[in-house]
Amino acid sequence: MTLITHWISGAPVDAGEQQSLYDPATGEPSGSVVMADDAIVDQAVLSAAKAFASWSQTSLAQRSAVMFRFRQLLEDYSDTLALCTVRQHGKTMDDARGEVRRGIEVVEYACGLGHLLKGEHSQNVSTGVDTYSVRQPLGVIAGITPFNFPVMVPLWMFPIALAAGNSFVLKPSDRDPGPSLILAELLQQAGLPEGVFNVVQGGKPAVDRILDHPDVAAVSFVGSTPVARHVYGRATGNGKRVQALGGAKNHAVVLPDADLALAADAITAAAFGSAGQRCMAISVVVAVGAVADPLLEALAARSRRIIVGDGENTTSQMGPLISGEHLQRVTELIGTGTPDGATLIMDGRTLSHDTGGHFLGPTIFDHVTPAMRVYTEEIFGPVLCVVRVDTFDEAIELINANPYGNGTAIFSTDGGACRTFQTRVTAGMVGINVPVPVPVAYHSFGGWKNSLFGDLHVYGRDGLQFCTRGQVVTSRWPTRSDGPNFSFPTTDR
Ligand code: NAD
Repeated sequence: MTLITHWISGAPVDAGEQQSLYDPATGEPSGSVVMADDAIVDQAVLSAAKAFASWSQTSLAQRSAVMFRFRQLLEDYSDTLALCTVRQHGKTMDDARGEVRRGIEVVEYACGLGHLLKGEHSQNVSTGVDTYSVRQPLGVIAGITPFNFPVMVPLWMFPIALAAGNSFVLKPSDRDPGPSLILAELLQQAGLPEGVFNVVQGGKPAVDRILDHPDVAAVSFVGSTPVARHVYGRATGNGKRVQALGGAKNHAVVLPDADLALAADAITAAAFGSAGQRCMAISVVVAVGAVADPLLEALAARSRRIIVGDGENTTSQMGPLISGEHLQRVTELIGTGTPDGATLIMDGRTLSHDTGGHFLGPTIFDHVTPAMRVYTEEIFGPVLCVVRVDTFDEAIELINANPYGNGTAIFSTDGGACRTFQTRVTAGMVGINVPVPVPVAYHSFGGWKNSLFGDLHVYGRDGLQFCTRGQVVTSRWPTRSDGPNFSFPTTDR
């Protein structure tokens, strides 16, 4: 049984009420996590605020050396992080290794901080006057992260924040908080001074204290849409800079000219990988015209072969859901499909499993319409809805009418159609014959509409912009004063 603590000023802190953690593959208690109250959040923010003073003045060379060492440590401990994720989240080991790998990419981007933070300089804007622009760190940045990527999503945020000279307070999900402490220890081993990176464990009270704390300059949030909306409203109301990434309902359009086998393979993996608990999972297939029947057959054939089991078992392709409560919610939503008029092609509820874990098999509904709850709700489980439309235009209109706009994909061999799709569809990330278009670290990740509240996406150039503020310096070194000049300063012409 492990106890997951906070991490403040470079050391574990175990104050606070304890909440049980469960192994999703067995349903058995696996440990506890301490839950922060206001005092603990205040302690972490104070530690970060103190550390900011010196960290923000540390040379770029020293900051980038920490990032390079951290990157190597993540490589060395990638299986430790992945295994901790499997035990607390339930996803398969391969999947967990994948999320560690995608997180490392962001650290690699942050290693280039010397180049990334370069400003612009204009010499002689007026006689003897130079102007230059620099990006300055903000101060204390807080990151609030969801359960579904306990390694990757924190790594979307803090490497760039730290590289830019900020200090950081992470509030991970209370359902799989273990990896946050491994990350904290690795940062310490990499030479990050104490207090620059802190972790507070907890739930809504801890989050709300972060949103209200006067010394938190910015909040980066990833989670469900209702909480994202709350975080954005409350923190911006308190004058903070906020990016709040929300939920999703990602559609994949399949045109009649698509390579059917390729589309079916890609969509099956994107719908049921990580038991559908990915914000970029494909949860709706939009089948255009005559492709519907053969596509459905191909999807069902592949889905029937999926091996559901303990994520630690190397043969498993899909693990359990995060909790018994979530399993119950997904099961209830599946129950609304048939009464609402959808056709149940595969029923994951029939999966038999005797370990006591939160397992559910792949589920497929056909003849889904936008009026049904299986369509309107973000189910966040292994449930794929097929909507049939007659035309390509109808497919685009359907996606654009959806309140979410995280990712979308199209499967087709027609380049013109794919380009039309990309330019007209209202989603932040578009895959062309790519089902899960999570951008590489030197681009940025973010959705549109109810999938993102705020202006800037995470990591990449947007992430750097989010973690810094512009400063423009106008500088002159006169040899003598000509006396006060009361007119508005202009350049000499
Ligand atoms: P969640 O919204 O329940 O929790 C996210 C974070 O907010 C956690 O740290 C949690 O402790 C905290 N929280 C929960 N309820 C709160 C409340 N009422 N007030 C304040 N804080 C609260 O999300 P989750 O279930 O952990 O994760 C799944 C959700 O995250 C899905 O909706 C998924 O689409 C979304 N997600 C989005 C992205 C993206 O990039 N857009 C990425 C990953 C996950």
